[in-house]
Amino acid sequence: MKMDGKNFPVQWSDGQWKSKLNEEQYRVLRQHGTERPFTGRYDMHFEKGVYSCAGCGEVLFRSGSKFDSGCGWPAFYQKAEDGKIVERTDSSFGMIRTEVLCGNCGGHLGHLFPDGPRPTGMRYCINSAALDFKEE
Ligand code: FE
Repeated sequence: MKMDGKNFPVQWSDGQWKSKLNEEQYRVLRQHGTERPFTGRYDMHFEKGVYSCAGCGEVLFRSGSKFDSGCGWPAFYQKAEDGKIVERTDSSFGMIRTEVLCGNCGGHLGHLFPDGPRPTGMRYCINSAALDFKEE
């Protein structure tokens, strides 16, 4: 999988992804799926820790920037560090949105909306299935 002509660092075959991920993780991360709102395990999860990519383990978000957006999916107002997340325009379903991908494996995480709280005003709306939480 490529982004702007460059390969993502993690390049696994479709078969490898299928054996690594459960069905829902595969549907979200590798097929740009969206979990049903209010069903994901991290929607109302507010423990202190780190959220990594469920595909490759890259650290993506920290609990300090997680907030309850009421939208039914985990929401963060900023990413953990620069370079771990890639954003690109997604014009599927007749909408122009910003898709959020893991910068390491290219896995689909969710979308970015400019309606978040201060200080960034951004809302990373992320599927629980794309994340793995570790307590800190
Ligand atoms: Fe990843």
